[in-house]
Amino acid sequence: MISVFGSANMDLVAYVAQAPARGETVTGHRFRTVPGGKGANQAVAAARAGAEVSFLGAVGDDGFGAEMRAALAAAGVDVRGLRQVPGPSGIAHIVVDDDGGNSIIVVPGANGTVSGPSEADLAAIAGSRALLLQLELPLPAVVAAAEAGRAAGVPVVLTPAPAQPLPGELLDAVTLIVPNEHEAAAITGATGPDAALDALLERVEEAVITLGGAGALYGSRSGERLRVPAAEVKAVDTTAAGDTFVGALAVARAEGRPMADALRFATAAAALSVLREGASTSMPVRSEIEDFLA
Ligand code: ATP
Repeated sequence: MISVFGSANMDLVAYVAQAPARGETVTGHRFRTVPGGKGANQAVAAARAGAEVSFLGAVGDDGFGAEMRAALAAAGVDVRGLRQVPGPSGIAHIVVDDDGGNSIIVVPGANGTVSGPSEADLAAIAGSRALLLQLELPLPAVVAAAEAGRAAGVPVVLTPAPAQPLPGELLDAVTLIVPNEHEAAAITGATGPDAALDALLERVEEAVITLGGAGALYGSRSGERLRVPAAEVKAVDTTAAGDTFVGALAVARAEGRPMADALRFATAAAALSVLREGASTSMPVRSEIEDFLA
């Protein structure tokens, strides 16, 4: 089993020719609600890639919370660890303009009430083959979960997004860190992925920097380095490519596959996700990933 301790947000996406300026009202041409949040997205990605997944987090007592719970369950994710708390669920208010540019407001809602793993969460984490973390829950909660994973000997995989200064105690508990190149630069201050990888490996045993259409770069403290090109596909929507990559990577590693194989599996899953519009809805199931690699 893989545990994901993280955020669930309802994405509220408005499509408009041009985003409104302050004080302006504009008419958009499309609106949709999509269950998202980096934690929930990674949980769905890992479940669709073939793992048993337990999602640990919180939603509010509103309709969005019920919808997000149902979407996770429909994807095969175990939601017994998804708490319902009084008040609103987390939302991401997203404005997409005709040039594909976007502006986003995240209101954490229920995610912001998570102060740390509960007793039941700790038991789930201890029984897992991997623990996936991101930075959309309050930082002390993420640190506590990471430390619980490390104490139980469970590999801890951190997606450091949104990028922010990372406390030493968090990095000390992380086994594998998976930033994109912007996050890697922000965290390390280094220029270029190779220098950023070196800097990350001073703090963490293993790191993968994802490079969008240029693939991914892996390194370990033991000196292994791998550069994996992205699969050549016609990208339609790269939303949640990174979350798909991490979810699939964790599944392959939890199955004991060597890192080079796991990176190929993750690269295939991410490529398939960019072929389709949407976040969790665009993530491939295992048979699609295997067919793509065949
Ligand atoms: P997001 O924030 O959209 O979830 P990210 O910035 O975290 O994405 P990226 O580095 O953009 O992550 O992409 C993750 C992985 O997805 C890449 O390593 C690559 O394998 C795959 N990928 C991304 N963009 C493309 C693309 N245009 N074509 C093929 N594969 C892609």
